[in-house]
Amino acid sequence: MHLSDILRAPKAVLHDHLDGGLRPATIIELARECGYRGLPTEEPEALGVWFRDAADSGSLERYLETFAHTCAVMQTREALERVAAECAEDLAADGVVYAEVRYAPEQHQERGLTLDEVVDAVNAGFREGERRTGGRITVRALLTGMRHTDRSLEIAELTVAHRERGVAGFDIAGGEIGNPPARHLPAFQHLKRHSCHFTIHAGEAVGAESIHEAVQICGAERIGHGVRITDDITVHDDGSATLGHLAAYVRDNRIALEVCPTSNLQTGAAKDYATHPIDLLRRLGFRITLNTDNRLVSGTTMSREFQHMAEAFGYGPEVFEEFTVAAVESAFLPLPERRRLIDEVIRPGYAALREAASSK
Ligand SMILES: [Zn+2]
Repeated sequence: MHLSDILRAPKAVLHDHLDGGLRPATIIELARECGYRGLPTEEPEALGVWFRDAADSGSLERYLETFAHTCAVMQTREALERVAAECAEDLAADGVVYAEVRYAPEQHQERGLTLDEVVDAVNAGFREGERRTGGRITVRALLTGMRHTDRSLEIAELTVAHRERGVAGFDIAGGEIGNPPARHLPAFQHLKRHSCHFTIHAGEAVGAESIHEAVQICGAERIGHGVRITDDITVHDDGSATLGHLAAYVRDNRIALEVCPTSNLQTGAAKDYATHPIDLLRRLGFRITLNTDNRLVSGTTMSREFQHMAEAFGYGPEVFEEFTVAAVESAFLPLPERRRLIDEVIRPGYAALREAASSK
């Protein structure tokens, strides 16, 4: 598949962090505006490289430091609106037609914004970004509760309160080790009582037991990453595989895995692209979606993730169409909107790509 075709292919992303995807030049400008002096460099290209190196360093402290810089410049209404609008523009330029972008509202209150003001500002930015792209992209927000804090119920309540205004669901993120999702059970119970969607980061740093807790104790509809579900799968010498009860449950109930290959390489959840479990899981029939996680920090885009997967496993347009349809089917959107995206945007987009390829 040619790079130009990959760029043109319609894409959907369900797992993308707002604070992990800023433009380096924007970080520098916002830092000047708000008087933040902590940036390692004020040269956009060098700053982009610094972020990727920090994320690649294998040091959790350096990895987390990257988010300290981005969050530091996302503390005013104007800054949040700008970052959100540019996020929508950048995704649309990469061929993304539907995105669920997540962020933790509690991390944007250092200069006195209320949680509602944070959510309103980000939503206004997404609407502005949609407008600037002529409606080529639809963006919904997911509100993230942080595992290590005790504000998850508050953020779950915030999610329910804003559900009619661009917020599609809830997520829980942050260091998995020592912070199991069941610690936040009251948040998930609140969401369930209000029939509100949520996903949980699990099966990234911790194994299948975290996925078990996320799905069976907390009730997650999707899993952020989830690649460690392979802990519950035995692959035999002849290539056949035996699934444990949990793996079978996840597969059979079509619980989508929000797979982020490049991010997995950086955090050590996978060794390299060629041995990434995405291909095994796909062959076994899991509902796989392909995602960016943190575009700036991981130096990636949806097109680059497609490209890496094309190189590693020979995937072509059929597989990318499958991933994209799977993502929209698992989107936290009303069914008619999902069907419209699939029937009117994604299927025709891939059909056009196939036609162009066959006439070359
Ligand atoms: Zn993530």
